[in-house]
Amino acid sequence: LNLESSSDKRFAEVVLPFRSRKTYTYFVPERLRSVVRKGSIVVVSFRERRGTGVVIELKRETEIADLKEIIEVEKEISLKEEALRLAKWMAEYYVASLSETLKLFLPPRTLQTRKRKFSIVNFQYIPSNEEETKILAYLKRVGRPVRLETLKKKLDFDPLPFLRTLLEKEVIREDKVEEKGKKVIFDSNIQRKPIRLNSEQKAACERIIPYLRKGVFKSFLLYGVTGSGKTEVYIHLVREALNLSKGAIVLIPEISLTPQLLALFSFEFGELVSLYHSSLSASERLWIWKEFRAGRKKICIGPRSTLFLPVENLGIIIVDEEHDISYKQRESSPRYNARDVAIMRGKLENIPVVLGSATPSIESYFNAKRKKHTLIEIKKRVIGYKRPKVKVVDMREEQSEAPFSIKLIEELHRSLSRNKQAILFINRRGFAPHLQCLECSYIPMCPNCSLRLVFHKDENLLICHFCNYRKQVSDYCENCGSILVRPIGFGTQKVEKELREFFPKVTLERVDLDVARKKGFHEKIYRDFIERKVNILVGTQMVAKGFDFPEVDLVGILLADIGLGIPDFRAEERVFQLITQVIGRVRKGGKVILQTYSPENPAINFARREDYISFYEREISVRRRFRYPPFVRIALVEVLGEEEERVKSSIFKIKEEIEKESSGVEIKGPSPSPVYKTKGKYRWRIILKSKNLSILRKILKQIEKRPIKKINVLVDIDPQELF
Ligand code: ADP
Ligand code: ZN
Ligand code: ZN
Repeated sequence: LNLESSSDKRFAEVVLPFRSRKTYTYFVPERLRSVVRKGSIVVVSFRERRGTGVVIELKRETEIADLKEIIEVEKEISLKEEALRLAKWMAEYYVASLSETLKLFLPPRTLQTRKRKFSIVNFQYIPSNEEETKILAYLKRVGRPVRLETLKKKLDFDPLPFLRTLLEKEVIREDKVEEKGKKVIFDSNIQRKPIRLNSEQKAACERIIPYLRKGVFKSFLLYGVTGSGKTEVYIHLVREALNLSKGAIVLIPEISLTPQLLALFSFEFGELVSLYHSSLSASERLWIWKEFRAGRKKICIGPRSTLFLPVENLGIIIVDEEHDISYKQRESSPRYNARDVAIMRGKLENIPVVLGSATPSIESYFNAKRKKHTLIEIKKRVIGYKRPKVKVVDMREEQSEAPFSIKLIEELHRSLSRNKQAILFINRRGFAPHLQCLECSYIPMCPNCSLRLVFHKDENLLICHFCNYRKQVSDYCENCGSILVRPIGFGTQKVEKELREFFPKVTLERVDLDVARKKGFHEKIYRDFIERKVNILVGTQMVAKGFDFPEVDLVGILLADIGLGIPDFRAEERVFQLITQVIGRVRKGGKVILQTYSPENPAINFARREDYISFYEREISVRRRFRYPPFVRIALVEVLGEEEERVKSSIFKIKEEIEKESSGVEIKGPSPSPVYKTKGKYRWRIILKSKNLSILRKILKQIEKRPIKKINVLVDIDPQELF
């Protein structure tokens, strides 16, 4: 029995898709009173437009007079109570508006204001009055959907009441997003034998399953070295959920990882599984959304946006590679971290949440030690898997400037002659980082961003990796006219090219963002590599994570130092994680050649010995000493604008105001952001540190309340990348 829909609640609070924090009150007409409830998606009119919004509250009374009515209720899409609660929590926690957080829970384009458009569907209909005749004649003449405003202009009467009747009689229709059913499943002829869990895997499952059965929240940190078989644990847990008629959400950091995982899950659970991610078309996502809401699909796999799918009777959430920063939404508000929101969803829905990693984030491991998460360890690799030998090559001692040391070339020869496979990892795409003039040292820069342009030899372009600005490479230096312009350093494209020169007969493929942008391409490369049509894979972090390629016996880390010099307190943690992950790609024994200019760096050293605990101990003491998370919380306030002076003065004014209002908060800055200019906008920022998160949130809310002319203010709670 749903009391919320009882008919005495005649007023609805509706969230519309605006950035403001306001909600709007509408009258619920008699005819809709049995269907409008909390979480309903309703169509209302707003100014000259028609908008869809979410009902977040129903009320008996209101002081507001002259209310407009709710026009229509969306029948197939509505949000559940839990979704509303989580959206509210997110808005509060991340200092965002409810419309921004609610949007995450809905299929694309559900929440929108749109100009109303009409078209004819029933051409046989005989008009019952002169107005209808005129409307239909006009629609027929135009032959495609016509806007309400246009109709109003073209006709000498108000068409609205007549349109309403025509709509009711289904003579015309109002245009909506079309939906198409589509199977979004990776088809591979993967075959696998049933696997029996080893004792550590079994023990891990046994600790989690009681919570799954009873439906009780608990967060687990599953810390298992690379190759310890965490995926099998996930599969076992998901199977258990299905046995209990429950569903599951499996989050993975990036879509590049989905092919393998999806193939595994599809093999195990068939049609009950669906992939979900934001690059599917709107209609595909709508379809998937409905499949889950209706309970026809039960297991969803995908990156962070997957967390918000309406899985019926959700039993468990798994966050694989929980340390990965791609769980953090950085680009737009709400700047949430899906790992943290997953835990909140688990709490609200009374289910266990499993965070898995071979290199847990410092925060998560800290939380596990403080008993906020239950720590489960898998210490051994699965049978047949063993750690590779890691050989460090000090690049300062190499004679040539080639990306490969002599040692690496030797090992590649050896590996290929034994018919094994190799992965070469370089965390930088493009050909070379940049072109430099040998006469005047000038390096071409992006005119919109204060960043060096990256040389892409394939296209003979200079590209800004931040804003995608592109320009043709010229034959001479823009600064001094010299023709001595040379690429310096290297990226994936250059590695690929030089490798082809060294090994002309060997098949090799490159995997990086430029390749992955071509639809379906990385799935194919992945398949070719697993079927051993490809001998060497060259790539960025996209090849570093998660993949299980048993025949790889050599990994070359071409430049382990990339990322170390970044002014971010997490720089070393990232490098440690990445190197550990890359080393973990060699699974059945073999070699890793780790090339570096700083062999003494602790992150590199702990990673090479696979010593997470020592790395953690060192890192946590640094964090304690310099007051970084998890010992304090951090918030970032950034100001962006086209006028440099205005940006600067605004950030200083914001700082003054913060100082007036807050104690117990450490203020760093204002300082120019590390990337000072992006897309033509200058950026300054302040970093706030405090033990007290609610003080930080209060400050950010205050800032949000005072908009500044021609300035964008962006706030970020728990930022993951300070660079
Ligand atoms: P992780 O994600 O922990 O790095 P994976 O889940 O990729 O490790 O497992 C590595 C490999 O070990 C996979 O090929 C998997 O099929 C295999 N495997 C996992 N568990 C077992 C087991 N109990 N017995 C045999 N093989 C296993
Ligand atoms: Zn020059
Ligand atoms: Zn740029």
